[in-house]
Amino acid sequence: MIRVEARCTSTGACCPDCTQWTEQVHSSYLRFPVDLPTAGRRAQLALRVRRFFCAASACERRTFVEQMPGLTRRHGRVTERLRQALGGRSGWPWPPGMAPASPGSWASSPAAPGRCGV
Ligand SMILES: [Zn+2]
Repeated sequence: MIRVEARCTSTGACCPDCTQWTEQVHSSYLRFPVDLPTAGRRAQLALRVRRFFCAASACERRTFVEQMPGLTRRHGRVTERLRQALGGRSGWPWPPGMAPASPGSWASSPAAPGRCGV
């Protein structure tokens, strides 16, 4: 599997409620959306996303998480281009070779019967 580390290079973001620009970072965390296979291997992003403080004192939204339109959507587990390749689906059943490599997704898969050419 290929893992691509990525982050947004802008210094700030706009609050989705009041559209006020802010550069006050509250915290950040990693997301791991699955991307289209690359060179025949499963691909996954290690995407660093930031939570910002809204700079407008009158705004009721104190903090918000930056969004990356065209790349991921809120709570999305796959990239937008993989979602489109899957016809709008975002999970099981995965096409062969596209399933995420998390242990849980494989645990329920029945093992292929062994044939060993006997
Ligand atoms: Zn705001």
